[in-house]
Amino acid sequence: MNFSLLVKDLGWHSLIFFVVTALGYLFVSGSLYALVFLRGAAKHSPIATRKLKADLSLRNIWLSVRHDVVLSLWSSAIFAVCASATTTAYTLGYTRLYTEPTQYGWWYLGFSLCLVLFLQDTYFYFTHRLAHHPRCYRWMHQGHHRSNNPTPLTAFSFDPAEALVQALYLMGAVCFIPMHLFVLYAVVLAMSLGALLHHFSIRMFADSAFGRWLGSWMIGPMHHWYHHRKYNVHYGLYFTFWDKLLKTHCDDYEEKLTLQITPQTVKQLGKPSLSIARSPQRKTLPFPVPFKKAS
Ligand SMILES: [Zn+2]
Ligand SMILES: [Zn+2]
Repeated sequence: MNFSLLVKDLGWHSLIFFVVTALGYLFVSGSLYALVFLRGAAKHSPIATRKLKADLSLRNIWLSVRHDVVLSLWSSAIFAVCASATTTAYTLGYTRLYTEPTQYGWWYLGFSLCLVLFLQDTYFYFTHRLAHHPRCYRWMHQGHHRSNNPTPLTAFSFDPAEALVQALYLMGAVCFIPMHLFVLYAVVLAMSLGALLHHFSIRMFADSAFGRWLGSWMIGPMHHWYHHRKYNVHYGLYFTFWDKLLKTHCDDYEEKLTLQITPQTVKQLGKPSLSIARSPQRKTLPFPVPFKKAS
């Protein structure tokens, strides 16, 4: 094995992954932000647009955008290095990635996708709770919560430590779980789309019996928006399973969100603003502690 060649490859791959990730983020999140959040012309405009327009100022918008973009570019760099390291590990035969779909049977493709997503949800829930511990919050998670009204630009706005923790999951998963390359791509796609959707601040699920049922088990934008405001509820990534099991789920958050359109509820939840929260609430649950029932 030629070590210097390996390091050179790692560097080039990192650069390519960074350019692709950063440009993808800037184009997709930037377009959605400009079209929906700045124009706010859509009939069902995001809650962050409807409720917060009164507090908009060009300076606040600029501060918020700059904060989210800078952190997202740092995250993109960390994701790129981790993706490059995974590529190198694959080349050297250290991963369980495979390319022949029938190697473990067709059924295994679906099973492994569900397994990897469920384990990722579990990993995210517990590391997210850890990130809210007062000893970790400041350096691990504060950056993400500074935008108290998330927008698509907040999707990858993580502190570098948090970005690394999240990237380590997939690096570990490909080394231990046999995974077809397309399953890995599907997981990366689900992560990216999920991150975008969850920071859109709009109601995603239809107001039907099925929509309500789906919304009670799947995490949507309003579910995550509530986490950005309340801090001590809704820690999950894709599903509400762990939040419900460990009593960090607010069952009536939909009603509270509907109510909070009124000035009184706005007061309860804090001053709405597209700007960066000046003094983020530090209402965190120590971890591990006996779990409090979510309010
Ligand atoms: Zn978030
Ligand atoms: Zn959080």
